[in-house]
Amino acid sequence: MPKQPEQPEQPHRITVAGVPVDTRHWIGGRRIASATTFDDLSPIDGTLIGAISRATPTDAATAVAAAKAAFPAWAATSRAERARLLHAVADGVEKRLEELALVETTDNGALLRSHRRGVMPRVAHNFRYFADHLLALDHPDFDTRGHTNHVTWDPAGPSVLITPWNAPLMLATWKVAPALAAGNTVVLKPAEWSPLTASLLADIAAEAGLPPGVLNVVQGYGSEIGDALTAHPDVRRISFTGSVPTARRIAASAAARLTPLSLELGGKSPLLVFADADLDLAVDLAVEQYDNAGQVCLAATRLLVEESVAAEFTRRFTERAARLVQGDPRDPATDIGPTIHPRQLEKVDGFVRRALDAGARAVLGGHPVDGRYYAPTLLTDVAQDAEIVQEEVFGPVLTLQTFTDEDEAVRLADDTRFGLAATLATGDRERAARVAARLTAGTVWVNCFFVRDLKAPFGGSRESGVGREGGTWSFDFYCDLKNTVTAAKGWQDHG
Ligand code: NAD
Repeated sequence: MPKQPEQPEQPHRITVAGVPVDTRHWIGGRRIASATTFDDLSPIDGTLIGAISRATPTDAATAVAAAKAAFPAWAATSRAERARLLHAVADGVEKRLEELALVETTDNGALLRSHRRGVMPRVAHNFRYFADHLLALDHPDFDTRGHTNHVTWDPAGPSVLITPWNAPLMLATWKVAPALAAGNTVVLKPAEWSPLTASLLADIAAEAGLPPGVLNVVQGYGSEIGDALTAHPDVRRISFTGSVPTARRIAASAAARLTPLSLELGGKSPLLVFADADLDLAVDLAVEQYDNAGQVCLAATRLLVEESVAAEFTRRFTERAARLVQGDPRDPATDIGPTIHPRQLEKVDGFVRRALDAGARAVLGGHPVDGRYYAPTLLTDVAQDAEIVQEEVFGPVLTLQTFTDEDEAVRLADDTRFGLAATLATGDRERAARVAARLTAGTVWVNCFFVRDLKAPFGGSRESGVGREGGTWSFDFYCDLKNTVTAAKGWQDHG
């Protein structure tokens, strides 16, 4: 589409928190601009960060073509060389860790101290872990009546990776690293509310020596280029993290070619607090659910507390939560930053308004603050079938319900269409084992939260997702597994 004549020429390189960032796509080892752009705003103060290239379906197809062209050589690259390059990318991430942290915070409003201490080191670790796992990837040969079975993980082909805004680079590289390790080439489509660190990743990958076309980054709206990526006949894998409605669209689009999908979706996870729990620990776990302004897929947003300790739990929880500091995410004293976008704030408030109209009581919060933040909120007097209990809010909004016995706890915990995670607070090991076994969830945490090892399978049950990634499961998804069965007979050497 031709650019509007009155539109000023957009600079292709902008400076964000002192860091130069290219606003164009990265395709086939080159920066490519689209004719039009979209505005990227900072959640911190609503200011315009920059105008980002807005891909068309043709741009998306160009990126897939670049990934296709680069695939044979990358797939044929030895495991050792692929691992070396991924470690070089990790080195680049570590070298630019501060820049990545500053840009990510400006772009998505999450805490700068979290980006520095936790998120960006984890981004580097994503590359290191999957590089090392690739080198160790092996299945012992086995025998079938004198025949040898030999299992290999063959690179599958160009992979489309589509990611959300709540933890942009961490979630993108959790897919990019294993896909590249597997020998696939990649088209990454970051979220339009947080496009910047993907562009920096392209720079880092190029500096690390990743060949052109192995990693491509396409900026733009999923609604405009999603189908061009997910229905493309040359795409062999689609990995998506995001919302359930978008996943349905992607699955429908991929259905025509039966392109394998990995879907990491939303949740409405419970935190079960039993009367035998260490109550201070349980309160810590509950308060942690406000991290990242509640914009965490795994957040245990439904507090289910045994009735006999509910009053005391609520007293300690509200006292602790009231001390949380909300404000500029760059300030080290801040605990909760802004909501990503005014539209998200409105959405969160809509859920709370409707819950209050339906009879819920706000023990804490229940309203926006200064047009950018949502007050940490705790709602009681909610029915199990209420929207606020059943639907993902994706904001700092928790509900509290009580139960009288283990059966009721499990029944309430399991009664949503999701199954991403569950957290238990209990002092009784047998109860922990019993309850964990009965819950439907991709991850169960007992007396802890958010402990994630890249070796572990990760994903959701029911509408929280399809498939598992992590460790060998990532390679199982990104590769075409092959079993070669060889007979002992038929050899010229009669061996
Ligand atoms: P979203 O579904 O609106 O968008 C996610 C991505 O999909 C974006 O890049 C968007 O541009 C793209 N997209 C939109 N329409 C598309 C289409 N038709 N085809 C292809 N791509 C399309 O989600 P969001 O609001 O960015 O993220 C929040 C959601 O992500 C929440 O539901 C949250 O629970 C979920 N999430 C899940 C996990 C997990 O690991 N399970 C992790 C983080 C976030």
